[in-house]
Amino acid sequence: MNLEDIETVKSILSKPQKIVIVPHKNPDGDAVGSSLGLYFFLKSKGQEVSVIVPNEYPKFLKWMPGNDTVLNFERENSESKKLLEEATVIFTLDFNDLSRVGQLEKVLKTKKADFIMIDHHQQPGDYATVTYSDVSMSSTCEMVYNFIEKLGEVDKITKEIATNLYTGIMTDTGSFKYRSTSSRTHRVVADLIDRGADNMEIHRQVFDTNPPSRLHLLGVALSNMVILSEYRTAYITLSQEELDAHNFKKGDTEGFVNYGLTLEGITFAAIFIENREESIIKISFRSVGDFSVNTFARNHFNGGGHDNAAGGRSEMSMEETVQKFIAVLEEYKNQLNL
Ligand code: 5GP
Ligand code: MN
Repeated sequence: MNLEDIETVKSILSKPQKIVIVPHKNPDGDAVGSSLGLYFFLKSKGQEVSVIVPNEYPKFLKWMPGNDTVLNFERENSESKKLLEEATVIFTLDFNDLSRVGQLEKVLKTKKADFIMIDHHQQPGDYATVTYSDVSMSSTCEMVYNFIEKLGEVDKITKEIATNLYTGIMTDTGSFKYRSTSSRTHRVVADLIDRGADNMEIHRQVFDTNPPSRLHLLGVALSNMVILSEYRTAYITLSQEELDAHNFKKGDTEGFVNYGLTLEGITFAAIFIENREESIIKISFRSVGDFSVNTFARNHFNGGGHDNAAGGRSEMSMEETVQKFIAVLEEYKNQLNL
């Protein structure tokens, strides 16, 4: 965000606005944390603000401060539409292309308002009045902290804001271990703790509230894991039957894909999860090192994300999807064995 953008934002926020904050579909900790962190900040400036998520998010995020104020576009459709109709400013957080908001895309595409994008994914679209995009950032939550700092208002960060921002930085960095975790990330997090984020409690709420069925599902995922040493790759499949047998709820498979990368010599991991309701196989890709899963997902599985963490989808059957994956891997054999 350059000086001109900061002045534009200051000028927009100096007047009373009707603000809607929208994160991406299937919101994760960073999407919900950045939205709610920004929500409390803008409220404290006297603005009218709402957060509208495109669809449901996991139970392990439902304790976050402000959770009760969040509207679900699928469930609270008419109320959400009304707020969007009246909105004068729309913040889009943790995504950079309007195709990432599901059914909300149609509404946002035709909407006349000042859009402000805050995001750390690659190849941002050009729909916003102000685009704050930085792929080197650990998380959108770290960027919301920067955003508040650039406005000269770090002192407005309350315990509620700090808790939300801490949560998203923690989840998007794999608890401060991914490559994008910088010394600056740690400084931001230290400041958030000073401002009231209870780091141990946040970690516990997100990671240590599993129902037994989720650990049993993890057991199935790990038994289904296939290792392709020649491509330094490991992949997991989960069918709809397997999910149903373990009382699957949104978010239950979060983090499963990472187990592949804990194998010695494996640098590329994938998980294929059947979603019969949407007739798709949802895919997550992870890598360590230089192999770009963003490029891989973009080129072959209608997706994208970051260099080391991306997602995509397939409309073929599980069997065909996995066959295609293995066929495509052959093209990348050299890159994968560098
Ligand atoms: P996850 O595998 O945890 O769902 O997502 C990993 C990363 O890839 C996240 O940054 C997420 O925003 C991005 N991502 C996941 N699915 C998709 C997709 O279908 N399209 C795009 N463009 N990005 C995705
Ligand atoms: Mn993020």
